[in-house]
Amino acid sequence: MATTRFAVAPMKAAQVPKPGADFEIVEREIPNPAAGEVRIKVQACGICHSDVLTKEGALPGIQYPRVPGHEVAGVIDEVGAGVAVWKKGQRVGVGWHGGQDNTCPSCRRGDFRNCRNVKIPGVSYDGGYQQYMVAPVEALVTIPESLSDIEAAPLLCAGITTYNALRHSGAMPGDLVAVQGIGGLGHLGIQFANKFGYKVAAIGRGAENATLAKKLGATVYVDSKATNAAEALQKLGGAQVILATAPSSKAMSELINGLGPNGKLMVIGATFDPIEVTPPQLIFGSRSIQGWAAGTPADSEDTLRFAELTGVRAMIETYPLEKAAEGYARMMSGNAQFRVVLTM
Ligand SMILES: [Zn+2]
Ligand SMILES: [Zn+2]
Repeated sequence: MATTRFAVAPMKAAQVPKPGADFEIVEREIPNPAAGEVRIKVQACGICHSDVLTKEGALPGIQYPRVPGHEVAGVIDEVGAGVAVWKKGQRVGVGWHGGQDNTCPSCRRGDFRNCRNVKIPGVSYDGGYQQYMVAPVEALVTIPESLSDIEAAPLLCAGITTYNALRHSGAMPGDLVAVQGIGGLGHLGIQFANKFGYKVAAIGRGAENATLAKKLGATVYVDSKATNAAEALQKLGGAQVILATAPSSKAMSELINGLGPNGKLMVIGATFDPIEVTPPQLIFGSRSIQGWAAGTPADSEDTLRFAELTGVRAMIETYPLEKAAEGYARMMSGNAQFRVVLTM
């Protein structure tokens, strides 16, 4: 894709040349926005575990080379034909929801989040691991002045996913809400749950996360290595909601008995092995299991505004774009504290 045909300076991009291959840093032409699109000068882009879908080719139909990245923050640098509302110089982000078709049955009901042909930046088109990207206007999120690009980026996938899942979970202020996993999603989930007024039980493996979990807003810390976490939740009255963030179906299965009456296991940690549950576990107590994926750009704006109001922030490690491979490896290691963000 590298080219020297144009006189303008090319830009740098971190691309995946083919499924399973290592990242390469390449020079590309700066892309031009088509009708209904804008070009964004990317300032920061979070590295999300879902970028593995592009890196390893886990979804059908991805065209390579592909630039991953769906936690993008930057500035509109050029607008395509017919773009009226969005202006050059405006600070914007792009999250997981990269556009919808506006015609499928879900879109016709206004349920854009569940569009049958939803576009995902970094999957359906090149994402934010590059200095400039183009995006359709229906993917754009306004970034409040008080949030920096680095702060905003991870809120556009990890942030919105935890915020939106919790606010649609049915839990009310004062309810016991457990957050399973203290990682990229979980450390945000604990903060949002605390600010929503829930009694927060953070569930982690090992004693070492207890101090941090409480600092983030957990009332109780449950060490699932040392104790039976489901029993611990029942001793507290049973959880109204368990936000399952760590990608371990086994750990999720073991928590279902920690739900109270009408309790819900809200699944956002994506893994491909099955969650195990018996019908009586769900029947007695009318418990349920639900999944949740991110949200629309309007939901992202709610997330950013709420973060601005309450001080919820991701804990972040930054890497320069040139070190995208290193940043990705750090994210995959599970040792990052807690979100990795590329800076351009
Ligand atoms: Zn649709
Ligand atoms: Zn993501």
